Amino acid sequence: MAVAPLTDEQREIRDLVRTLARERIAPRAAEIDESHEFPWDIVELYREHGLFGLFFDEEYGGLGTGTLLALTAIEEVSKVCATSGLILAVQELGSLGLKLAGNDEQKERYLPRLASGEWLCAYALTESGSGSDSAAMRTTARRDGDDYVLDGSKRFITNAEVANLYTVFAKTDPQGGHSGISAFVVESDTPGFQVARLEPKMGISGSTTGELVFEDARVPAANLLGQEGDGFKIAMRILDRSRPGIAAQGLGLAQGATDYALEYAKTRETMGKPIAQHQLIAAKLADMETACEAARGLLYKFGQLVDDGVDGPELTKASAQAKLFCTDTAMWVTTEAVQILGGYGYIREYPVERMMRDAKITQIYEGTNEIQRLVIAREMLKENRAFLLAGVG
Ligand SMILES: Cc1cc2nc3c(=O)[nH]c(=O)nc-3n(C[C@H](O)[C@H](O)[C@H](O)COP(=O)(O)OP(=O)(O)OC[C@H]3O[C@@H](n4cnc5c(N)ncnc54)[C@H](O)[C@@H]3O)c2cc1C
Repeated sequence: MAVAPLTDEQREIRDLVRTLARERIAPRAAEIDESHEFPWDIVELYREHGLFGLFFDEEYGGLGTGTLLALTAIEEVSKVCATSGLILAVQELGSLGLKLAGNDEQKERYLPRLASGEWLCAYALTESGSGSDSAAMRTTARRDGDDYVLDGSKRFITNAEVANLYTVFAKTDPQGGHSGISAFVVESDTPGFQVARLEPKMGISGSTTGELVFEDARVPAANLLGQEGDGFKIAMRILDRSRPGIAAQGLGLAQGATDYALEYAKTRETMGKPIAQHQLIAAKLADMETACEAARGLLYKFGQLVDDGVDGPELTKASAQAKLFCTDTAMWVTTEAVQILGGYGYIREYPVERMMRDAKITQIYEGTNEIQRLVIAREMLKENRAFLLAGVG
């Protein structure tokens, strides 16, 4: 499928994001990494320029410019700062439950505040004993009058402490397996809900990752998304649409590292010439650039499918392929960039070591890349391609 180019209006917005990334975010990236502090100034920058609106429809105060453009925005920011790119991606992740399964009242209550960036949001599926096997979750939600009472905990939740709204998954029927799970939106000031701790990490240091604890936390029944028992399906539909945000983060990291390594290789000389003119380095650069372009093809194809209204198995497979390939590319390309810079690549003064540390998480969260391979293979096994083999053999 050929990917349609961005319209003039979309290109203008992409270029604005690119300029903001280069001029306002890039100079902050190393500090954000060193300080391990959530970058509220970057959130303010996004608010000022309406960038959170990229992820929302016009009727809720968003720009209504579509998924392809939103993905390119995450890519542009992540070229210079993966933590800042993640802030955009998680505004999508944390709000998709409302967009896909919320009723009109819930959407009107929350989406405008998320579209403006007045509120940040989060997605809370993982627990200490259930990551890839999310149906093994133990957090429960018991109906009591007009409320649900939540008990349990969630682990590794991005935007813990900075989010105002959490999409939380819990078992309304503890014996019910997948169909015993329900989804809720939980406001951060809900009595009985607290962030117990934040995790120190290898990379994306400015992003908060925390443990959420629910002790008799009363959530209004009006905050149930869809029907009781819909939670697992909602969680998976959200991930189908949000994973490419992580793919865009990975692609940004890979392209940012390629661009940096290229400029370095043009000026660093050994044996009387720039290292870019040594064939082994030139070949690395060529492979890095080609991998980025291939990854971009998969990512933009996904964006185009969503903008064309495609849903179902085709979208699931395209999402997993984009996530898998973009993030494996991020890890490989950033490691090659460190190699091209030699000893300088390994020290903090140069950004590629940060990019390499940041890249690792993209292969893990929102479904590890092992899980993406399982998803892709599962979809392949459902397809019937026997007709392609007619006459073969
Ligand atoms: C920084 C960070 C941010 C995160 N943000 C969020 C968030 O915002 N919200 C949220 O809900 N979660 C979040 N997570 C959790 C993340 O999605 C999980 O860590 C991830 O899904 C893996 O789960 P796990 O850590 O329990 O690993 P496990 O599921 O225990 O997996 C361990 C290993 O086994 C492999 N494996 C597991 N099952 C299979 C299988 N069937 N076949 C083959 N291999 C398998 C995995 O790929 C992995 O390599 C975050 C995690 C981190 C570290």
